[in-house]
Amino acid sequence: MASYQVLVQNLRDKFNQGVLSSIESRKEQLQAFHKLVSENQDALCEAMWKDLHKPKIEGLTHETDFLLGEISETISNLKSWTSPTKVTRYILQAADAAYIQKDPLGVVLIIGAWNFPVRLLLGPIIGAIAAGNTVVVKPSELSVATSELIAELIPKYLSEDVIKVVQGGAKETTELLRERFDHIFYTGNPAVGKIVMRAAAEYLTPVTLELGGKNPVIIDKDADLQTVARRIVWGKCANAGQICVTGDYVLNLHPKRDELVKYLSEAIIEFYGANQKESPDYGRIINERHFDRVSELLETTKGKIAYGGEKDRDSKYIQPTVLVDVKLDDILLKDEIFGPILPIVDMETIEQAIDYIKSKEKPLALYMFSQNSSRIDKVVKNTSSGAVCINDLIMHMSLGTLPFGGVGNSGMGRYHGKFTFDTFTHEKSVLHRAAGLEKLLFMRYPPHNENKLTW
Ligand code: NAD
Repeated sequence: MASYQVLVQNLRDKFNQGVLSSIESRKEQLQAFHKLVSENQDALCEAMWKDLHKPKIEGLTHETDFLLGEISETISNLKSWTSPTKVTRYILQAADAAYIQKDPLGVVLIIGAWNFPVRLLLGPIIGAIAAGNTVVVKPSELSVATSELIAELIPKYLSEDVIKVVQGGAKETTELLRERFDHIFYTGNPAVGKIVMRAAAEYLTPVTLELGGKNPVIIDKDADLQTVARRIVWGKCANAGQICVTGDYVLNLHPKRDELVKYLSEAIIEFYGANQKESPDYGRIINERHFDRVSELLETTKGKIAYGGEKDRDSKYIQPTVLVDVKLDDILLKDEIFGPILPIVDMETIEQAIDYIKSKEKPLALYMFSQNSSRIDKVVKNTSSGAVCINDLIMHMSLGTLPFGGVGNSGMGRYHGKFTFDTFTHEKSVLHRAAGLEKLLFMRYPPHNENKLTW
């Protein structure tokens, strides 16, 4: 048997033997998982620094703290989430018991991406284990240091009967995808999402696809530009713009566009200094291939650079860059930028902005800065996106009671908090009929006779 076949079969055997069938065993693994993250926060942050120049404070707040919170929340709720839920019965089932049993799915595969290499890979594991599944995890090969560290830590803290790490890139993932899984959870770009879904179709395996796209930021005519600028710069420049939910481009309805640019430039300088290359808080592009891709966008665009534009291939540095007079057919409006470049497109009306957004693929997130509730309502009701966040970027994903996921080209399925548990759970309907009262069923048995209905 090929090695992945053996690996998956072993985890299936353990699943069938009930390695996580008790709540206690799941709790034990989750507690060990909590320990893994809390005892290795420094090492995980160091690895992310090596991979992405990610500042430690962002490693903690955007990645490890989030995980610790989710693990604790899951442990606290494990009993109630795993308990059967009773459902309402009709007159026909008055003497019966009816409930939803929370079954694990089996062996699940989790494939992570490089831009949040800790959180995106380890986050789904929480719900997968809580629901009682055994797990194969595949970190992204692009975040090398983090991938290696995670592959070393998981077997130290968690049972090898429950979870296995497979390292590698497209070749290894392609081989892995030939195996039969009971759920595949993929984070990454839509093109590979299609490959994953095709492979999953072979066994009718359900998938969660956490994909990307171009997230619009509408700036309304009444927005407070100084606040808007600070919030956009924060969301666009963290991780050097390599965030699936960052604002990709601005649709500006505000008449004072130059003031907006001034405030954006000021915020960049306030957060990262006049020479952002020297800032310990500013990240780098993950590798040369992505550097060249973003670089080419800057060279090809017909937009006018209003701030920034510097780059250095050796250090994979791209300066925070703001462009104005960008037209809708510009290269910057084509594919997801995934870098620290902010094109601003001027628009006249909210209807134009809505029509443009509707003419494109459905984004993972849509942002609007406005103080006008009826225009906000109009945008929320007339557009489709994974999520909407008004008057800020990204913050909707910090609330675990909101489901996180895309729609259409930005993905399918959802997670965070209880939604992660639900993703890896089959809600099995159970109707437990009363064994007696047989005479009451006379109506349903042939020979049929209309007189029975009037009984
Ligand atoms: P990536 O290059 O790390 O790829 C993601 C995973 O797919 C990796 O584990 C990689 O090994 C695997 N992979 C790559 N090519 C493959 C192939 N041919 N066959 C099988 N597997 C393959 O990450 P990426 O795709 O560059 O990530 C960036 C994209 O991910 C952006 O579009 C971003 O918006 C999106 N993203 C989405 C979310 C979300 O939560 N929705 C989060 C982060 C990133």
